Amino acid sequence: MASLADLPIRDNLRGLTPYGAPQEQVSVALNVNENTHPIPESVAHDVVTSLAQALIGINRYPDREFTTLRERLASYVGHGATPEHIWAANGSNEVLQQVLQAFGGPGRSVLGFPPTYSMHSIIAAGTDTTWVTGERDPGYELSPTLVTEWIEKTKPDLVFLCAPNNPTGTPVSLDTIVAAYDATDGMVVVDEAYAEFAPEGSLSALSLLEGRERLIVSRTMSKAFAFAGARVGYMIADPAVCDAIRLVRLPYHLSALTQAAAVAALDHTSEMLAMVGDIRGQRDRLLRELPELGFTVWPSEANFVLFGGVHQPHALFEALLQRDIIIRDLGIPHHLRVTAGTERETTLFLDALRALGGASFGAR
Ligand code: PMP
Repeated sequence: MASLADLPIRDNLRGLTPYGAPQEQVSVALNVNENTHPIPESVAHDVVTSLAQALIGINRYPDREFTTLRERLASYVGHGATPEHIWAANGSNEVLQQVLQAFGGPGRSVLGFPPTYSMHSIIAAGTDTTWVTGERDPGYELSPTLVTEWIEKTKPDLVFLCAPNNPTGTPVSLDTIVAAYDATDGMVVVDEAYAEFAPEGSLSALSLLEGRERLIVSRTMSKAFAFAGARVGYMIADPAVCDAIRLVRLPYHLSALTQAAAVAALDHTSEMLAMVGDIRGQRDRLLRELPELGFTVWPSEANFVLFGGVHQPHALFEALLQRDIIIRDLGIPHHLRVTAGTERETTLFLDALRALGGASFGAR
């Protein structure tokens, strides 16, 4: 068997490692920020009916323009969005890839602010777009001044802002997004994968889209919507941006089954989102109880918490795994990230930490 090094692979892919969040069979999986509540059974029945209908026409290619899905997504996001403002793909990862295929590529660059979602740089590499990094203020914050300075310094073709940011949970103010937009002639992408978990009344970058044709807001059904396995992500942007993506998408990229499942789920938006309040409650509980165990926490507006004060992150990760609980070690010194699960899962996690000695675990 050959190794990667034996192959005539593109130079910018040499030495890279693929996305690799472990997929272990454990009873408490709090590692990839899924919604750990299953979808309601009544909704599942409607999804199955919708899939059955789609199956009858499965000998034909699907609607290349996923018209019904775009209509449903437009009414879900509101803010005056019409189906022409919507683009969807197999997860928001694919949306971001298509955005970089159209607006990035060889000789172009995208600016991001680590620590941030690891796929941003991996998708940049996959599309041969140079990944340029800025630094965050203390507390992982971004400010209008900071993003403006980094844009002026690095002159990127695209800017990625993750709001709230994965893995830190930090929100990004609308002023910061506007400052980024005004500082560049390139595209500004706001990754709002976790937007639904933000506090009630928070403003989304969707409210900035009017009159800003270089702004893209990407969203997903994988998180709050509890639909990660279906692979449906989408973006809201000027219709011209959707036309640009049509130049790079593969025809029929969204299968008839994906479209049918997503439309049926969107017909039950309130039931699908019913657990969001609960999840916010468990996140707030983690923010309260982790410090009681001696850890530090970063304020989070998403469905996960990054906590610090961990003496040996990898050893603690392994010790939890032994107890059938998986969380995430992102390689940030003295930190681990945990997803807010159901009340039971969160309790099992906190109890396991307590049994392991809390923040004194691994101290010499
Ligand atoms: N953006 C962020 C910030 C994420 O954390 C994730 C998933 N972890 C995604 C996008 C991609 O999600 P999906 O492809 O499932 O829509």
